[in-house]
Amino acid sequence: MDQPLVIITGASSGVGLWGAKALADRGWHVVMACRDLGKAAAAARETGIAAGRHTLLALDLSSLASVRHFVAAFRGLDRRLDALVLNAAVYLPQLKEPMRSADGYEISVATNYFGHFLLANLLMPDLAKADAPRLVTLGTVTANSEEFGGKVPIPAPADLGDFAGLAAGFKAPVAMIDGKPFKPGKASQDSKLALMMMSRELHARFHGPTGIVFSTLYPGCVAETPLFRHAPRAFQRIFPWFQKNITKGYVSQPLSGERVAQVVADPGFTRSGVHWSWGNRQVPGREAFAQPLSAKAESAARSARLWDLTAGLVGLEGTPLEAAA
Ligand code: NAP
Repeated sequence: MDQPLVIITGASSGVGLWGAKALADRGWHVVMACRDLGKAAAAARETGIAAGRHTLLALDLSSLASVRHFVAAFRGLDRRLDALVLNAAVYLPQLKEPMRSADGYEISVATNYFGHFLLANLLMPDLAKADAPRLVTLGTVTANSEEFGGKVPIPAPADLGDFAGLAAGFKAPVAMIDGKPFKPGKASQDSKLALMMMSRELHARFHGPTGIVFSTLYPGCVAETPLFRHAPRAFQRIFPWFQKNITKGYVSQPLSGERVAQVVADPGFTRSGVHWSWGNRQVPGREAFAQPLSAKAESAARSARLWDLTAGLVGLEGTPLEAAA
């Protein structure tokens, strides 16, 4: 019971699975928060995550009700929460029409951003009870227009505009945060940028009062995870080769998990309000560094506005933290 405990969303494959493995190997207990528990159990077995080092709990981030059920189930375990990793994501670049969540929201924003926004808020009182809590969010380079990866025109650079889609209620026919016509790949990029801004806002609002360390990270291009399974087949074949041989940005799944574990557990990562990166071109032995985001992503006024609009859409508007939990 003295093992530190981390919740990782989407730990059934890729970065989250290998993050779970790396943390379990460091002596942590990992709550694998997954929508398909059979798949998660098999993945834990195949990856060699010790039985006593993990618990499987059901979480479908695309459903706000499921997020609330998950929080209740976690509290039923009666365990201290030392860290929360917001990792799960969907990337659906070939959708012709928006797919909707149970709550009526566009599915990538609902899953990647709204579900995590509600989860982070509901679990904040639990995290705040730990001695040195951390809340770590998976960001990405393609949502950071400071970086070359954030400028690539395909599918489209992340851009949240003036949040007109959120302000309009984000239900059909609205499908984009900026309120513009639906672009499936961009919807996902936008959701990641919103998440990174959420982490900055969490830091601004709650680091002082709670002591929680809030950070995001870009683990590198983990080109072989199932994240890209809905991308065109040719892309899936070429992408890992391109990243290994041309950009040199390729990172293996075990290394990505090791990086997540560092940000969750290592003493060098106690700064709050930071985006960690190991660079785009991978250099063996390079240390992580704090990377700036674009001016729009770093704008305190924009992050606060995004927060307020999102709180309303996930049912937290005007709700004090303790009451929400
Ligand atoms: P992945 O292998 O596809 O993992 C995504 C995880 O999210 C899976 O466990 C998936 O569950 C889960 N998930 C999807 N929808 C969910 C839902 N509604 N509720 C709960 N869980 C759900 O992809 P990955 O590459 O490891 O990505 C993990 C994170 O790393 C993402 O946030 C991504 O943006 C970030 N990242 C990835 C890269 C990269 O190059 N791959 C680079 C930078 C950042 P199922 O198994 O049930 O589908």
